[in-house]
Amino acid sequence: MTGPALLEIENLSVRYGAISAVRGASLRVEKGEIVSLLGANGAGKSSLVNAAVGIVPAAGGRICFEGRDITRAPAETVVARGMTLSPEGRRVFADLTVRENLLLGAALMRDRARVQADIETYFEMFPILGARQQQLAKTLSGGEQQMLAIARALMSHPRLLMLDEPSLGLAPRIVDGIFDLMVRLRDAGLTILVVEQNASEALGIADRAYIMTTGAVVYEGRAADLIGSTDLMDAYLGSG
Ligand code: ATP
Repeated sequence: MTGPALLEIENLSVRYGAISAVRGASLRVEKGEIVSLLGANGAGKSSLVNAAVGIVPAAGGRICFEGRDITRAPAETVVARGMTLSPEGRRVFADLTVRENLLLGAALMRDRARVQADIETYFEMFPILGARQQQLAKTLSGGEQQMLAIARALMSHPRLLMLDEPSLGLAPRIVDGIFDLMVRLRDAGLTILVVEQNASEALGIADRAYIMTTGAVVYEGRAADLIGSTDLMDAYLGSG
């Protein structure tokens, strides 16, 4: 082992009143990996990543980023440390323009010249966003809104990008584009934790995977091992 993991979650629990959404879950993400967090509806995946970035409180356990305890850190601190979540449902600001959405993603960045340069970079990476920069986000297609949500998350220069169900509700061709983008970002040095119900697609790009069932992590292993085992896929994911 060489130093601390980029993200280390130990024995995390999340509760909403009487509901126990995450029960003693542990997960680690090493620098340079794509890690998939899989599981059925309601398994607790969103609760886990929301707790990691400080959107919902941890009821127990420990969350460390680059070896520093961030278990009780507020969301702005987590973003400033280098971890950003693109939330489920591609929550863009519907009544703001594409450009304004990106500016909000950089709200904590002081160097405004760099922010403008970053926006131009993402318009090159996503030409459709550049072409529509003055349009309200609500006028974009689902796939374009997902691209905007990802570009907005990248505006804070995260070292770890978390994506919660980026393929949800998108056409297969668009989903392929989003997954290709994750691989390109990983190859450019970004570390990614992706929450997905679309197991086979997510495993195809991931280095490692975790599977959650009713709040607990029930499997951890190499993505290639899961893909290669019909038994495992059947047992945990109903064949994915
Ligand atoms: P999905 O893919 O549907 O988002 P998930 O695996 O991400 O599923 P969570 O959204 O984390 O699962 O939900 C885990 C459990 O916590 C579920 O039983 C859900 O109903 C419950 N839950 C989630 N958010 C809340 C909330 N704000 N208040 C009460 N219960 C909640």
